[in-house]
Amino acid sequence: MIEHTLAAIDTTAHYLLTDSRQLSFPEQSIFFCIKGERHDGHQFIGELYHKGVRQFVIEATSLDQRLQDLTEELADAHFWAVNSSIRALQLTVAQHRRQFNIDVVGIVGSNGKTIVKEWLSQLMAPSEHVIASPKSYNSQIGVPLSVWNLKESHSLAIFEAGISRAHEMEFLQPVISPTIGIFTNIGPAHDDGFKSRKQKITEKLRLFTKVRKLIYRKDYTPIMEEIDLILKPVNPFLKTISWGNALTGADVQVVFSPQKDKTFIALTGLYGVLRFETAFRDEASLENLTHSLIFMLDWGLPPSEIQQRIQFLRPVSMRLELKEGINRCYIIDDAYNNDMQGIAMALGFLDQQEQHTQRTVILSDILHSGQLPIDLYQNMASILKEKNIDRLIGIGPEMMQQKHFFDLPHLEFYSDTDQFLKNYPFASLTDNLILIKGARPFSFEKIVHRLQRKAHDTVLEINLDALTYNLNYYKNKVGKGTKIMAMVKAFAYGSGSTEVANLLQYHRVDYLGVAYADEGVALRQSGVTLPIMVLNPSTATFDLLWQYNLEPEIYSESMMLEWIQYSVLRNEPTQMPLVHLKLDTGMHRLGFVTDDLAALEEILIAHPFVRVASVFSHLVGADEGVHNTFSTLQCERFKEASEKIESILGYKVIKHILNSAGIIRFPDYRFDMVRLGIGLYGVEATGQMQNQLQSVGRLKTVVSQIKHLQAGETVGYGRKGQLERDASIATIAIGYADGYNRRLGNGVGQVVINGQRCPTIGNICMDMTMVDITGVDVEEGDEVLVFGQEMSIIELANRIDTIPYEILTGIGTRVKRVFYKE
Ligand SMILES: *Cc1c(COP(=O)(O)O)cnc(C)c1O
Repeated sequence: MIEHTLAAIDTTAHYLLTDSRQLSFPEQSIFFCIKGERHDGHQFIGELYHKGVRQFVIEATSLDQRLQDLTEELADAHFWAVNSSIRALQLTVAQHRRQFNIDVVGIVGSNGKTIVKEWLSQLMAPSEHVIASPKSYNSQIGVPLSVWNLKESHSLAIFEAGISRAHEMEFLQPVISPTIGIFTNIGPAHDDGFKSRKQKITEKLRLFTKVRKLIYRKDYTPIMEEIDLILKPVNPFLKTISWGNALTGADVQVVFSPQKDKTFIALTGLYGVLRFETAFRDEASLENLTHSLIFMLDWGLPPSEIQQRIQFLRPVSMRLELKEGINRCYIIDDAYNNDMQGIAMALGFLDQQEQHTQRTVILSDILHSGQLPIDLYQNMASILKEKNIDRLIGIGPEMMQQKHFFDLPHLEFYSDTDQFLKNYPFASLTDNLILIKGARPFSFEKIVHRLQRKAHDTVLEINLDALTYNLNYYKNKVGKGTKIMAMVKAFAYGSGSTEVANLLQYHRVDYLGVAYADEGVALRQSGVTLPIMVLNPSTATFDLLWQYNLEPEIYSESMMLEWIQYSVLRNEPTQMPLVHLKLDTGMHRLGFVTDDLAALEEILIAHPFVRVASVFSHLVGADEGVHNTFSTLQCERFKEASEKIESILGYKVIKHILNSAGIIRFPDYRFDMVRLGIGLYGVEATGQMQNQLQSVGRLKTVVSQIKHLQAGETVGYGRKGQLERDASIATIAIGYADGYNRRLGNGVGQVVINGQRCPTIGNICMDMTMVDITGVDVEEGDEVLVFGQEMSIIELANRIDTIPYEILTGIGTRVKRVFYKE
């Protein structure tokens, strides 16, 4: 059935889907087929239909004979044909938005939108039920998807809107329909999508045609002018709250006074005379914070309360990273972006690092600025001069052409990155703080690679390609009909949960599993939208589960009753997250045992609003062949109990019991889903297929010092390392606090240096370990492999009679995780 419409879609679905990879609840999803430059959502209709999706929005222009036939074939699906799927999505969500009568904050601006949004939602959370757009969901699609999550229970919503072209904002306005606006600032981002900077401001202001209040920084004169000229005539009752330096005559006059380790922010005017204190010192953070302060003051929060709340603010994912470089240099790597605003910010970051006297900036041509080269490079030259930069290395044809503008003590220009790498005298670049900033096509990562100190500290390298490879191995094993839940509990088995989870999301796993609610929250905050099961949710975390849509494992009658009570309290029991019922088929850890099932079933019948996503159990000995009979028994018990529960519920639930080892051993019991853990991380727990997986983690450190000692000396605490012969000893920078288990001391453990195995000697210390390198060619600073290819994590675990799981999850948080793709 095809229904042609120009209006909002009248759908029963709970989930709006625009990326077929994000499907989790087929029956409750409506898929908007969006046609982009490189892919076309209409191609996924068949696939999604087979997974259970029955509602589709298609574009009339794509409705050719083939698609027409398909819609007839899929007779029980509902198709809406529209002019534009994106517009239909926006209309649909705009209608949803109209049901709510709460304050909604809309944020626009060239920079800082995401940070102000994140901060405000943290700051307001103690007193309001806040919903905010995830990550930087601020596009034509991201905005409606964010606003769709608005629910009855929220008391304050904060959404950001970004545009890159004229006329985009008028579509976002009704979707967000803000009552309060914040205009963070204006810079050159996306200038080339607009006729002028003025036009860009005017377009952004379209979001605010109906707001009651607008907060903005008056120091940006063009913003002020456009508000007066364009916005006020169409929104005559608008109350503006401006802030700025004393000369602007703003409603609130603001002075930042940076101290050694903090900044005082003094406000005078509308709210009296106030002073706040913050640990932030850079201009961008102070601006973002001041927008937030003004908002809270206007909201009526007492200043003392505000001071309390801002104390806990943390930077929102710093894109700039400080790394140790060659020749005692430090490098700031911002190799991916180089608009002017970004450069100014990076230079501000450079300002905070005072330990280096010499400052070098390596900069590529600036692309897509929308400015004339003359203005652009002149402007840049003056900023560099103002920031006392000693040396500029300019790379690219534009840079070469405009080099006469720059006036610094040292200037060098190269036509491209390879020229620079080939010809530059790197040995002369010592004791410098180096900012590296280049547009993507210039591949500045090569420069970072060249300048970065090779072996430093203790690092766990995660090979993301290997992880993907392992995922695909298991995917192929279980086949298309079985879903995959990837277990990312315990910091993704030590590998770094948010990074791994985002990769898994990209590769379309169906579910994620974490141990505790906090872990799920961290994933949500890093942009993970996949359904997430929480294995061990305490009742104290129900609020978090609800707020972040995390799905609890329910493992006992009392817990089920508490969940029901909580659902009723929330006043919207059907809006609660789905739950997962855990059956105890033999582990005797958490779960309903057979005797509990009758009571459970009664409760489920009496409370049909409890929505069950899955029923599952866990094998106790899937990794060991000796337990095969018991494993099979567990599977059979599970099959019977789960089918019974399903029949009582009257709808399909996902049934699952296999972990990584189970997938290999029990192909007959894959049911609807499997839970993949350690296998992803490169360890095949049955040991049968180890050579089919790739190793993912590589833990390495460095040699800090080398000593040549005589027979009879001892090494380390308790004089445990007795030398029977003259020996060379290397101290390496890893100890038990980093996860190098103390039981690996006294020769039990071995590390690999320059391809040679070297045994530990003496006791392992908290931060250091000594190894015997007698006869091995080693220098201070050399790389030491703790585990990886040449010393497998399995061997390491065997040496101290434990399992790879414990080694992986024991790696200390101070060990830096570095993710890479080959
Ligand atoms: C950790 C865990 C898994 C994954 O186990 P692996 O052996 O790492 O594959 C599966 N299910 C549950 C309930 C778990 O706690």
